[in-house]
Amino acid sequence: MDCIFCKIVRGEMPCSKVYEDDKVLAFNDIDPQAPVHVLVIPKKHYGSILDIKDDEMDIVAHIHKIINKIAKEKGIDKTGFRIVNNCGEDANQVVKHIHYHILGGKKL
Ligand code: 5GP
Ligand code: ZN
Repeated sequence: MDCIFCKIVRGEMPCSKVYEDDKVLAFNDIDPQAPVHVLVIPKKHYGSILDIKDDEMDIVAHIHKIINKIAKEKGIDKTGFRIVNNCGEDANQVVKHIHYHILGGKKL
């Protein structure tokens, strides 16, 4: 599939990896908007939250569990951070593989 995040998952494109398990991958955003700017994605391709069926929603809870872990490891759990998931046109979703931005390390 011609999806840059799938290519990153398959190791066909490099990334600055922050976390990986069998279901998710987290890596630093290539164009960081804050001192901490990590993207967390499911390894399975979903275009957006709209493509995740009710019986597959466990992956969203898992992603949030990993977001908590990364926030603590990066030390932004005390200062606060933003979790952003852009979905579709009006939200300016550029990469059509669902991803959660973790933004922190400064006053946003
Ligand atoms: P969106 O606007 O779709 O929510 O955000 C896409 C994000 O992916 C942007 O913050 C952009 O900088 C990031 N991005 C796009 N291409 C790549 C890439 O090849 N590698 C990494 N690490 N981040 C990327
Ligand atoms: Zn993909």
